[in-house]
Amino acid sequence: ERPKHYNEIFEIHNELLIRSKQDLFANTGRHALEYMLKRGFDRQILDEFDIGYFPQNFDISFLRKKYSKNSLAATGLFYEYSGRLNFKFAGRLSFPIKDTMGNVIAFSGRALKDDVKPKYINSPTTDIFEKRKFLYNMDGARSEMKKEKTGIVVEGYIDVMRCSQAGIKNTVSPMGTSFTKEQAALLKRYCDDVILVFDGDFAGKKAAYRSLETFIDINFFPQVVFLPEEDDPDSLIKEKGVSAFLEKLESRKDLFVTYINNLSKYADSYQKKLKIIERIKSLLIKVKNPYLKDEYFAQTAKIFDLNEETLRKDIEFSSHKNT
Ligand code: ATP
Ligand code: MN
Ligand code: MN
Ligand code: MN
Repeated sequence: ERPKHYNEIFEIHNELLIRSKQDLFANTGRHALEYMLKRGFDRQILDEFDIGYFPQNFDISFLRKKYSKNSLAATGLFYEYSGRLNFKFAGRLSFPIKDTMGNVIAFSGRALKDDVKPKYINSPTTDIFEKRKFLYNMDGARSEMKKEKTGIVVEGYIDVMRCSQAGIKNTVSPMGTSFTKEQAALLKRYCDDVILVFDGDFAGKKAAYRSLETFIDINFFPQVVFLPEEDDPDSLIKEKGVSAFLEKLESRKDLFVTYINNLSKYADSYQKKLKIIERIKSLLIKVKNPYLKDEYFAQTAKIFDLNEETLRKDIEFSSHKNT
């Protein structure tokens, strides 16, 4: 059954989208437009991604005239303060978040100054939006994904836009969450291969490795690219050009093998080595494709200097025990 304010929630998002785009290109939004132009985004890409601006003293009376307080509250875009509704994203650049069909279902707002925290504010969970079920730019990327049979996953909105402006259109972002099984399944509907290009910092690496099990669980095996420590796709493309980014993509490696290699760095005692092998075993057990499984067996044995037959027998034994 549809929630009471269902249609109105969509309508309100749409009205805000239109208004925020007008304001970005009007006098009120001049500094916001300047900010994006300075970062090297052109008007066409801003329009394509429906980037907008919500003024500091955003007057929502045009919405109050048309919609009930309850409908407005159901969008999650407002907070109540001394009996009045206030808009959460005032003074921020607007990144509309859309479902796969292109309907606006949420907003993210970026601060325009570095000293404003938090940098991004997102819509909360509402009747039409659950962050874990959507990927930013899925609506824009899906046709190219189908054509290329490949999807590229980056961390941020800006990364998606930078890739798109550089002609790489099959790019989406999980919007700051760790990758969920719903998001992995959504990708699998559109592509055979996925390349994770997360930020080069520790958080980016952690996010990539954390997503591995989620992908294995739906029988999907991502490739991964690690950028230099200080880079994200946006900064890399901006500073070194799209060719540098494409070169990075060429150097992609299987995420599982990369993970195994990374863990081996911590195997500095026999006890630790056994513990790490247990962790890898728990993932190997889930791999259904027999050829892939063989490949991962071989890699694990090689990297950890194990007898492949022993490993194989051990895992066969463990999987019988577990089923
Ligand atoms: P920019 O280049 O403008 O600084 P970014 O995308 O590089 O943006 P990151 O700090 O790397 O910013 O964050 C990656 C992504 O994580 C963001 O694009 C956003 O989707 C999400 N995110 C970051 N901070 C927050 C936050 N405070 N609340 C919600 N989501 C966030
Ligand atoms: Mn980051
Ligand atoms: Mn960035
Ligand atoms: Mn980043």
